Amino acid sequence: MTKELFSEITQIINDTEDMINGGWRSTHPTTVIPEAALCSPREDASSSDSLEKIAAEVEACTACGLCRSRNRAVPGAGIINPAVMFIGEGPGGEEDKTGIPFVGRAGQYLDKWLAAIDLDRSKDCFIGNIIKCRPPGNRDPHPDEIGACRPFLARQLNLIKPRIIITLGRFASQVICESTDGIGRLRGRTHSFRDIPVVATYHPSAVLRNPELRPAVWEDLKRAKDLLDNH
Ligand code: URA
Repeated sequence: MTKELFSEITQIINDTEDMINGGWRSTHPTTVIPEAALCSPREDASSSDSLEKIAAEVEACTACGLCRSRNRAVPGAGIINPAVMFIGEGPGGEEDKTGIPFVGRAGQYLDKWLAAIDLDRSKDCFIGNIIKCRPPGNRDPHPDEIGACRPFLARQLNLIKPRIIITLGRFASQVICESTDGIGRLRGRTHSFRDIPVVATYHPSAVLRNPELRPAVWEDLKRAKDLLDNH
């Protein structure tokens, strides 16, 4: 099978899964190209790097077209060496207004997930996204946008060193798990990113659209809690 045919088939499977899980959002090719994955461990590692430096660079970034439509870039927020690093897709409308991740409806729902596994956003977490600027109309991020933002995420991961990572939705899960599988296949087991356990789950927005996904998310959160308690 050619690489192009494989990529097309994977895209159809992933888009169908997204459609089943809560509505069609985009007709743009959405499969994350493997080149956009975080494949080089410790790249950009530098002893003088800091979350503040990365945030300043994100705020000034013009590496892709999203810089033209954004109001605020959203570098991510939280502490170094947290229990959990949550990685979402990209900022929505509220995040674009405030520069703070997950403060809209999906974020308020995410706060309930945190509470369910005894986590406090400000004390136990770093919350970030695969892309740092809002795609117009909340469309899916394009592979070139994910690729342009990739070095920021790689540098954040070098510094943050969470005990576990929870990826929210297909895009974050594909990038961190370095896979083209859809979220339905990626969730339900523990992955590893640079020896850090990774739990992939559905995006809170998808669960708000499709409450039938709740039991699966609860199972994933219990897996995460178990890793935190016993790892
Ligand atoms: N959805 C995301 O993926 N990230 C945010 O920051 C907000 C909503």
